[in-house]
Amino acid sequence: MDGKIQCAALNCGRIFAPNPRVKNQRYCSAKDCQRARKRKWQKEKLAADPEYKANQRDCQREWHLRHPGYYKKYRQDHPSCRERNTLLQGYRNAKSRLIAKMDEFKPAPPKGPRAFYLLPLVAKMDASPQKVLLIPIS
Ligand SMILES: [Zn+2]
Repeated sequence: MDGKIQCAALNCGRIFAPNPRVKNQRYCSAKDCQRARKRKWQKEKLAADPEYKANQRDCQREWHLRHPGYYKKYRQDHPSCRERNTLLQGYRNAKSRLIAKMDEFKPAPPKGPRAFYLLPLVAKMDASPQKVLLIPIS
């Protein structure tokens, strides 16, 4: 064994020699892989640490206050992103409209337990004993 391992980043898979001073190193030193490692760490941290999450949210809010109009300018400079967003939002809107419609047509659940008389159906052509007539008791 030469101690080399495979990078854990997707789309990399490079075989590299981990730095002995870094404990449990799983990503190679490529910029994209280090970025992927940090993203993964932050995602897990956000999910596990509500205090960290609140702090991140505050920082983002402050950043937006210091950079007003950043996203407006970004959208103007990147028209293809805007097209994509418009398309995806249209899809989300259509989906939620469909769900609302489906809820409208849902039959109302029966109120309380219901009782029926079970009457065997006597049919000349089909003498199946499973056939019964359900008559609600009212
Ligand atoms: Zn890598």
